[in-house]
Amino acid sequence: MTKPLEGRIALVTGASRGIGYAAAKALAADGAHVIAVARTVGGLEELDDEIHAAGGSATLAPLDLREGELIDRLGGAVAERWGRLDILVGNAGILGELSPMGHQSPQEWDKVLAVNLTANWRLIRSFDTLLRASDAGRALFLTSTVGHRARAYWGAYAVSKAGLEMMVRTYADELGGTAVRVNLLNPGATRTAMRAQAMPGEDPATLPAPDAICPAILRMVSPAWQSTGEVLNVRDRVA
Ligand code: NDP
Repeated sequence: MTKPLEGRIALVTGASRGIGYAAAKALAADGAHVIAVARTVGGLEELDDEIHAAGGSATLAPLDLREGELIDRLGGAVAERWGRLDILVGNAGILGELSPMGHQSPQEWDKVLAVNLTANWRLIRSFDTLLRASDAGRALFLTSTVGHRARAYWGAYAVSKAGLEMMVRTYADELGGTAVRVNLLNPGATRTAMRAQAMPGEDPATLPAPDAICPAILRMVSPAWQSTGEVLNVRDRVA
């Protein structure tokens, strides 16, 4: 039986652990060839082993997303090998420090904005032509409730997600008349390293595992998905 994403090319950032790892595995299980991006080679290799063991295929791209030229180079390599990108999942993110606005460290501020916002812009910049070259280009970016609802102490992280949401919605608005659909997904509290860092007192066993979000991700990157420029909450609208 043909798999739903057979022959499609999917790039996932932050694929070395957490939600990105689960999403990459799910995309590969549905037949997509996954380009897995993150810095931790061990995590990417583990993912590669799991994907291959399940009969799928992946290309590993170990890189730091703060280095925009490496993203450009990856875009060039994808253009040369496939000439298009069908699915982009902009998932990589960092929390930074939770502290009052007046106490945020400038270094941490820059780092959070670089990974959560600027790197996603560089991805859009490098892969725009390739998404348009697909018959149904789909880009999905991971956001958070604090990106659209102010919550004290979430600092640079909240600001980066607010910026991401507007950037992605602006990009979606520019794509009218094309086959590309671009959206944001708020996964809600999920059992990952980032969540444990944000909520050290919480029992992780009370949270859904990253796999629980994958059905929503798969739906939102499928050729059948038509909405664009939306911020969707996994708990109430997509799952
Ligand atoms: P994790 O901390 O578990 O994973 C983050 C991923 O991002 C890792 O694979 C990490 O890889 C990658 N990453 C971080 N910095 C860089 C970098 N400079 N270059 C390349 N890759 C990088 O986070 P989650 O899985 O929890 O989060 C995934 C997304 O979901 C994030 O955008 C987050 O904001 C969002 N989200 C998560 C929630 C949750 O409850 N977990 C709730 C709301 C939103 P490596 O370190 O190997 O580079």
